[in-house]
Amino acid sequence: MSDCIFCKIANGEIPSNTIYENEDFRVILDNGPATKGHALVLPKKHYADLFEIPDDVLAKAVQTGKVVASMLKEKLKCDGVNLVQNNGSAAGQTVMHYHLHVIPRYENDGQHILWKPTSPSAEELVEVKNTIIG
Ligand code: 5GP
Ligand code: ZN
Repeated sequence: MSDCIFCKIANGEIPSNTIYENEDFRVILDNGPATKGHALVLPKKHYADLFEIPDDVLAKAVQTGKVVASMLKEKLKCDGVNLVQNNGSAAGQTVMHYHLHVIPRYENDGQHILWKPTSPSAEELVEVKNTIIG
């Protein structure tokens, strides 16, 4: 993908604040961080999203996210970590190259990554279940 910014960053063609790298991934600091240390796990090969990334690479992405989460916990003393991964513009994906967000969380950091729960009826939940498994 010659015009993909994350391909260029992941392969070192564009400089980035890299905090970790292995054979398959480069992990960089997000330039619009939710919190101090917000990092992005970028595969060096281009996959648009969850549906394109092969299972073995996906497993390695999560393992890499775990390594980085541990680094952030140790070095930045964060109180918690969110792993977030958006697929499709409706879900908030703005860069169409798979990336896993590793977001350190601090008590009272003012961020709102959690959703607002809704209250479907028992019947509505069963209908959804049946649509999914039917
Ligand atoms: P998405 O919304 O697609 O899940 O996340 C894209 C993320 O990439 C955003 O958090 C945004 O701040 C970050 N981002 C976009 N362009 C760049 C860039 O050129 N460099 C860095 N370091 N982060 C970027
Ligand atoms: Zn790409």
